[in-house]
Amino acid sequence: MDCDKCGSSAVMHAAYSGLHMCESCFTRSVEKRVRRRVREDGLVPDDATPEEPVTWLIGLSGGKDSVVLTQILHETFAQDPRIELVALTIHEGIAGYRDESVDACVELVEELDIRHEVVGYAEEFGLEMDDVAADDPMNMAPCAYCGVFRRDLLAKYADEYEADLLLTGHNLDDEAQTAMMNFLEGDVAQVAKHFDASLGPLDERSEQDTFVPRAKPLRDVPEKEVALYAHLRDLPAHITECPHSSEAFRGEIQQLLLKLEEDHPGTRHSILAGYEELASIVSDRYGDGTADLGECEECGAATTREQCRKCQLVEAITS
Ligand code: SF4
Ligand code: ZN
Repeated sequence: MDCDKCGSSAVMHAAYSGLHMCESCFTRSVEKRVRRRVREDGLVPDDATPEEPVTWLIGLSGGKDSVVLTQILHETFAQDPRIELVALTIHEGIAGYRDESVDACVELVEELDIRHEVVGYAEEFGLEMDDVAADDPMNMAPCAYCGVFRRDLLAKYADEYEADLLLTGHNLDDEAQTAMMNFLEGDVAQVAKHFDASLGPLDERSEQDTFVPRAKPLRDVPEKEVALYAHLRDLPAHITECPHSSEAFRGEIQQLLLKLEEDHPGTRHSILAGYEELASIVSDRYGDGTADLGECEECGAATTREQCRKCQLVEAITS
């Protein structure tokens, strides 16, 4: 097959657009979609100047999504003195998994020469996910703890580094899955907080991710295309799955969406477009749910309870 844009030999076919693309047209199209998102979401504030640059904190796990996001943002903004990129890697304490992905992060940031910080559950909370998974004190799935801890650290360090924006590498599949999960759970409050959606159990997503605005510039790019981009550009992405991965419901939704996409190309795009429209209507009507937040008596994090969810979980694990 030939590339529909330039006639060279195609490396991919996107059923949702009908396009075949060669390597260079494809990589350019991924970059264009990310830059369009940055523009359309208004991520670069009008008043950012070289003298008063803004700081963007990127959650860099070393997986393909965050590696591709970091690479493209670097190429877009390396020459732009209004934007300072900082990459934050979180080490959950998962042997044989996170060590390798931290290596991938280090390789990338050294190549790109961006500031990189690594923080870990061990130093922050005095626990490791391997131990939590082996002896689950509250009988929840490991990801239920891990998601709360990760979001706590992202929020904490975004604040500490005075970041103006927290960027994560969620792709189109992630976002369409989250939208479907919220619908199926009847979680209207979560719809209003669309831009805070992240991995983790639905009922625990509400109290974190508040003050620093979030952005997901990869959310127009399907997962497979992110993987192909990382491969074609030979980026140092780590692809093994976490041994404690336990999001059964998300897995079911993922399979369902892949089947729907196969039969009706464009389904993920339309789910996300509809969801975003709905999110703006719901949040206009109900607000984004951050109005009632107080401070956790242990750690000061934003919460609707006396003790935030993260502190409750740390206490249950370490006591
Ligand atoms: Fe944590 Fe679950 Fe992700 Fe593993 S799969 S890193 S346990 S959230
Ligand atoms: Zn707390």
